[in-house]
Amino acid sequence: MKTPANLRILVVEDDLRMAELLHKGLWERGHSTVTATTAEQGQQLVDTEKFDAIVLDIGLPDRSGITIAQHLRARPNRPAIVMLTALNQEDNVVCGLDAGADDYLTKPFSFPELVARIGSAARRARMAAANDFCFGPFRLDTEKRCLVCNRTEVHITRSEYLLLCALARDRGEVVSRRQLMKAIWSTTIVSHGALDTLVNTLREKLHAKQPGLISTARGIGYLLVEEADL
Ligand code: CA
Repeated sequence: MKTPANLRILVVEDDLRMAELLHKGLWERGHSTVTATTAEQGQQLVDTEKFDAIVLDIGLPDRSGITIAQHLRARPNRPAIVMLTALNQEDNVVCGLDAGADDYLTKPFSFPELVARIGSAARRARMAAANDFCFGPFRLDTEKRCLVCNRTEVHITRSEYLLLCALARDRGEVVSRRQLMKAIWSTTIVSHGALDTLVNTLREKLHAKQPGLISTARGIGYLLVEEADL
């Protein structure tokens, strides 16, 4: 598949020779780069500027590069993240992927492979941004119609999926019982108990990974709480 052109890429790498190599190689392939040499600097840049992708070294002088992935995880439209790790850092790879990184390469790596990985991660991130809802450790994949937590699918029924979509679409706002019933069953002639039972079974499934995501607005409806309120 074709690699997207003209990506704006943040390179977070404290090894200056490596950073220069990455800058030059990506520039030659039509991408523009900004370099940060510490996690702090990288985090400031992702907070103030927009990037399509991040090439993220894990071993940084101030703290692990994984903290940047964690920082960005819940953000909508976040850049794609490809981690660079040294050999024998399998634990870091698992932590990084759990923290929301999209892919990783072990140093030393082949440059064409890095470019290809960045391209496909950026393409996936764009598609995900257009289609998916993220909350807590979960991602609701509206293309595959499934719920994913830390790269593993969480089994939910069709009704639970529709309920979650309706809540996620208006995240942070109360969605009325009527609206939810229409979204799930295409009718409001459903017993109130059926909706409550459905909410409870979904809550139990989410609760195992992240408590408190769905809250009740008594007598009105339910809401999916904002990240800041968790
Ligand atoms: Ca390093």
